[in-house]
Amino acid sequence: MLELSKYKDITIAQEVCYVAENETKVFVYNVGGLLIDTGPQSRAEVLEKWFSTQDIKQVAITHNHEDHSGNAAWIQKNLNVPVYLHPKAIEYAREEGMYPKYRQEMWGHRHAFDPLPMPEVINTGKYSFEVLDTPGHAIYHNCFYEPNQGWLFTGDLYLGTKLYLCFFEENIRQTIDTIERLLKLDFDTIFCAHAGVIENGKIRLEKKLNFLKELQLQVIEMRKKGMTDSEIDAEITPFDMPITELSSGEWSSYNIVRTI
Ligand SMILES: [Zn+2]
Repeated sequence: MLELSKYKDITIAQEVCYVAENETKVFVYNVGGLLIDTGPQSRAEVLEKWFSTQDIKQVAITHNHEDHSGNAAWIQKNLNVPVYLHPKAIEYAREEGMYPKYRQEMWGHRHAFDPLPMPEVINTGKYSFEVLDTPGHAIYHNCFYEPNQGWLFTGDLYLGTKLYLCFFEENIRQTIDTIERLLKLDFDTIFCAHAGVIENGKIRLEKKLNFLKELQLQVIEMRKKGMTDSEIDAEITPFDMPITELSSGEWSSYNIVRTI
């Protein structure tokens, strides 16, 4: 558990999760009583204690992947505060999480919860967040933008400036469109759910966009030559990544080529 106090009114829980050789960090933010994401259920023991020390008044979940919504059921049951999720993801959240074993090992079990539809604006009293529809990493994904502070809470939209593999639910064309739209906003700090606080975030997000657009051009050129997506994938990423086999292809470089 790490708490950073650089940003007044923001406290941060940082957890590390593992599956096989893979280590992933998870960041959960409390911004003046607004909890952004709930972390995975595999870290429930630590996170529940942390939640209990925080004056949480409302919860906004960027998207319904289990590493973000894994403790929503516990929060609903124990803290009695509103939990918001993209309206189109609510139906799925009401069912127990069903996902493969490797994800259960890493993230634990996501219990059913009953969220309220995400409002257009979330007020904490001191801060006012515009809720943005930001499809790409997931179809129903929200970012939270505080224009007066220049803050953008990005869920899983950013992750890094480069991308070598992606989840089967992702759509890179949508990610490109979403990043282009976000770059028109005035912000400089992004708060990523896995990379943490990034102070030159707009520049980093721009780098990610450039990386994806260059890759897109490369793929388009290869398609023009008649290459299939599998052939293009083999040329762009000529090495195997352990997570691709471990996840039976849920995570792969092919998913990037297929959707770019
Ligand atoms: Zn995700």
